Amino acid sequence: MQDARQDEQFDMIRTWLLPDVPVLDGDEDFGSYLKRIGFTDAQIRYAQRMFVNAEGDSLPNISATAALGEIHEKANGQGDFRVLDGYDTLAKHLAEGLDIRLNTPITAIDWSASQVQVTTGSGTFEADQVVITIPLGVLQADTITFIPDLPADKQNAIRNTRMGPGLKMIYRFREPILPPDIMALFSNSLPPMWWSPSFGHNTDQTVWTAFATGDWARELMALGDEGALAKGLETLRIELDMPELQPEAMHLMNWTAEPYTRGAYSVALPVYPNTRDELARPVGRLYWAGEHTAAHGFSSTIHGAYVSGVRAAKEVLAAVSRQQAVS
Ligand SMILES: Cc1cc2nc3c(=O)[nH]c(=O)nc-3n(C[C@H](O)[C@H](O)[C@H](O)COP(=O)(O)OP(=O)(O)OC[C@H]3O[C@@H](n4cnc5c(N)ncnc54)[C@H](O)[C@@H]3O)c2cc1C
Repeated sequence: MQDARQDEQFDMIRTWLLPDVPVLDGDEDFGSYLKRIGFTDAQIRYAQRMFVNAEGDSLPNISATAALGEIHEKANGQGDFRVLDGYDTLAKHLAEGLDIRLNTPITAIDWSASQVQVTTGSGTFEADQVVITIPLGVLQADTITFIPDLPADKQNAIRNTRMGPGLKMIYRFREPILPPDIMALFSNSLPPMWWSPSFGHNTDQTVWTAFATGDWARELMALGDEGALAKGLETLRIELDMPELQPEAMHLMNWTAEPYTRGAYSVALPVYPNTRDELARPVGRLYWAGEHTAAHGFSSTIHGAYVSGVRAAKEVLAAVSRQQAVS
């Protein structure tokens, strides 16, 4: 275990300075870019494991232009923090005083007239302006009918941005399976990374979570839920040399299979680094928010979703005051 901690492939906190090499004309994928600037295979594998989970897909599927934009973005905060009372407290706080209808899936948005009509399973709503925060994966699934169809530029941006696959496998054991000073476990097998969500908290580290995106997630999904959980356990048994290791409970969360997300978060594909600008652009009385409409560095995150909502609200207010000035 000590050896593993000193191996550059498995070191948890590792930094390489990126030389100032421009991306090829017309963009390239981030894996090719890293190879071109001299990253070794071991460094690329490390970047794949540490960086890609945050980016939502494997290196060959990520735009180098977008990835570098995110790496160099300095305005997006100071790292990760945990909301100790649970993330839902944030949503509850933001929702205070608002009329929010849960369990009301939208099936159609008619924006052909001056009033937008939004059809849901519980009736139709009318509004002067509508802010659409539907996840990219749901927009791609065409489960919502737009009347008339969205313009070609918007449709192309929806198609040419990927909703990356992502899944978590969570195992609870009767006893801690690693010493308390170890927070993460890396493997050359599948899945490549686990961590204990209880690390640093006053609880036993009996819960271990594996998070996989990109090709790792695709490989696990191909095994089915039970097969993926069994594969994760097998890898854990081998890595820890504990062939009898048995969890008390295990659970798989597959965001790609969730009908109201259909993926983990958006990915800027090579050659299409700027689709998020088009995803954010208002169309008539339709305004767009959600992580996939946020700028690089903010996309794929909660704070990105939040700032995109603030931006869309400002766009609506500006449109309303323009209309009031005219009338
Ligand atoms: C495993 C995982 C871990 C993550 N960890 C972090 C993290 O640590 N930090 C971070 O900043 N970000 C994290 N993210 C990303 C973050 O969760 C997302 O970027 C963020 O939730 C996106 O917000 P959103 O409002 O765009 O979309 P969502 O949060 O997906 O909200 C969209 C809403 O639209 C609803 N909806 C869908 N279809 C319909 C329909 N037809 N009618 C009506 N409503 C509909 C959905 O039910 C949902 O409530 C993580 C994501 C995943 C999957």
